Amino acid sequence: MTETLPNYINGQWTAPAGAEQLDIENPTTTQTIGRVPLSTPDAIDEAVAAASAAFPAWSNTPVTRRCELLFRLAERMRRDVDQLTRLITEENGKSLPDSRAEVKRALENLEVACGTPVLSQGDKLVNGAADIDGEVLRLPVGVFGMIAPFNFPLMVPFWFLPYALATGNTYVLKPSEQAPLSMHRVAQMIDECGFPPGVFNLVHGDRVAAQRLSANPDVAGVSFVGTSSVCRSVAVDCAGNNKRCQALGSAKNHLVAMPDAKLEPMIRNMITSCYGCAGQRCMASSAIVCVGDENHTRVSQAFIEASKNVLVANPLDPAVADEAMVMGPVISARAKESILGLIQTGVDEGATLALDGRNLSVPDCNDGHFIGPTVFTDVTPGMQIHTTEIFGPVVVILKADSLDEAINIINDHQYGNGASIYTQNGHHARRFKLETKAGMIGVNVGIPAPVAPLPFGGMKASIFADVKAQGRAVIQFFTESKVITERYWPED
Ligand code: NAD
Repeated sequence: MTETLPNYINGQWTAPAGAEQLDIENPTTTQTIGRVPLSTPDAIDEAVAAASAAFPAWSNTPVTRRCELLFRLAERMRRDVDQLTRLITEENGKSLPDSRAEVKRALENLEVACGTPVLSQGDKLVNGAADIDGEVLRLPVGVFGMIAPFNFPLMVPFWFLPYALATGNTYVLKPSEQAPLSMHRVAQMIDECGFPPGVFNLVHGDRVAAQRLSANPDVAGVSFVGTSSVCRSVAVDCAGNNKRCQALGSAKNHLVAMPDAKLEPMIRNMITSCYGCAGQRCMASSAIVCVGDENHTRVSQAFIEASKNVLVANPLDPAVADEAMVMGPVISARAKESILGLIQTGVDEGATLALDGRNLSVPDCNDGHFIGPTVFTDVTPGMQIHTTEIFGPVVVILKADSLDEAINIINDHQYGNGASIYTQNGHHARRFKLETKAGMIGVNVGIPAPVAPLPFGGMKASIFADVKAQGRAVIQFFTESKVITERYWPED
């Protein structure tokens, strides 16, 4: 009998009333590994009520005590890193090293959030006017909600959750219904750490539960990570209901190969960037722009050859468990169908399918949602396979005559999450850093994902918010500034 996950509300594990259930599938084997309830809006309302009731005491708890509990959570998670790692691989299909790296980044965010006693300090301006001082306090705001994606089911909530709690807010998390197991396990660990009831709540569900977070009048703000079309609707709902909103969305990350780039390490780096997590990272690269004709030939050929050697396998096969670069399946049959449809679109719109990953068979995993590395050449800007986020192991290669043209290709694209340049030339790198419209830039780094102390987020349609995730930026999101203007007259 497969277990149905309960919600965690007000320190209690409860089965949501009237909820349909969805099977949780291991995308490698298609075996059912659990069931997730699709909670109704009532469960969100119940969790928000618990979080509202917990807010006065929690926001008045000394910040050092709040951080002490977060340190305790970090220790608790560290004890079972292997278990969390395996759960992510089972529910998501990424390799064990990728899952381990995901847990590590979540822990780093916990550690940075424990700097909140320093990070959340306010400011004071003495003698802003004659004998008048101005003081900026940074105060907790209230109840925050988070809606998580499937691709980093554990790490992404940690871009927000520890900062929200450290700054004195209370929380309601809705994990991805496609990959809810690892955050469910984290909720059990939170329960063990002694946080007061109602400070952290977890409600499972799909968009119905998620939409209630943006509508409930007692929610002060929502952090969303997922597709850009949903970002827009969450941002519109939050604006209409006067809530704070962070919404991080879709991507098409470009890698620019300059003629002077070091070929061998560049190709190795590109392969990891494009095919790690089966291309389902928001920072995965999926478009390569080669500058110059000869360079285009050398880079395309080397990339296609290297793509043929990518190891596609069951990520839980002990024989590959320690391989740094293993590609597992995509998340679901639906995702696979959509990716295969886009590959056909590429063929129909005249691009050259230089490496075809369709019809791949992986030993002992015949039913798994695998697609092999797929490369299109002769791609031009505006083709659908270039304008769309495919979110799978499909790479398009374009040609540019100059660095200017390469930058224009990126800047004209709807998305601007990340972009990288490969070059040994500092002048080219500097121009790329300053002129490219993407929120996260790499120089000879294919996945320029900022570490926990730095802000994480894109530009253009990759973000619908003005405050990014992680680090100092997110402290602004979770605190309200109140400005005190004061003076005292001298005693008579
Ligand atoms: P998704 O948009 O399908 O789902 C994300 C979450 O939103 C889920 O919890 C889902 O239940 C909920 N949801 C779905 N429809 C909703 C609606 N109408 N209103 C409110 N909530 C709704 O995304 P996904 O497929 O889980 O994740 C992949 C996407 O996330 C990709 O586009 C990827 O680029 C993006 N992503 C972006 C970043 C970033 O930093 N920019 C990071 C990770 C993932």
